[in-house]
Amino acid sequence: MVAFLSSEVSEAPIRDQRVLDALLQVPRHEFVPVEVRDQSYNNSPLPIPENQTISQPYIVALMTQLLELKGSEKVLEIGTGSGYQAAVLGELADEVYTVEIVPALLETAKKKLEELKERGTLHYKKIVAVTADGSKGYPPGAPYDAIIVTAAPRRVPVELLNQLKPGGRLVIPVGDLFQELQRIRKKEDGSRIEEVIVPVRFVKLRGEGESGKGQ
Ligand code: SAH
Repeated sequence: MVAFLSSEVSEAPIRDQRVLDALLQVPRHEFVPVEVRDQSYNNSPLPIPENQTISQPYIVALMTQLLELKGSEKVLEIGTGSGYQAAVLGELADEVYTVEIVPALLETAKKKLEELKERGTLHYKKIVAVTADGSKGYPPGAPYDAIIVTAAPRRVPVELLNQLKPGGRLVIPVGDLFQELQRIRKKEDGSRIEEVIVPVRFVKLRGEGESGKGQ
């Protein structure tokens, strides 16, 4: 798996050793449905229940690398899905909040995260997994050092920017049919630096904040 993550064929190779280690540490097969388990270590997205998808490992690694986690951060993930990305974040940050709009997905993911922690496979300090509409962020845990969104809104919800600490990073796919992965860094003075990273294809972000005002 590390071969394709660090390979030069991609425009943005994964060079953050902590991210590479976390991807090796977290057993992706535990988070995918039994029917596709044999494909767990291919670099491809896989279906999870409720018509959702778990991103390909390269995109998980790239988005995680863009968050620039050193270990002391509080991170918010919007779109828990299978819980795989949350597990990766848990190995790399201090506190993870992850919100999922579909209760059944959240329950399965939460159980899996707990089970793997009990087994000693995962070592996270704190993962708070809740059913909620994350299209306007998750105020109870705010402000965050980093926010990762794993479903695409048409525009960046302004609430997410408001819930970032100064110096914080937001990594988010934006768009409709055509989507691009963006990283938005909130500077200490409150101004923002926006970078467009790569074209991506994510499921749509649902919920009330999605079609509202944006940046
Ligand atoms: N990060 C996940 C994959 C996410 S797929 C993983 O590692 O498996 C996108 C997820 O976002 C889906 O589970 C979908 O139900 C969820 N989602 C969509 N809109 C949402 C919203 N407004 N708030 C929270 N979750 C949402």
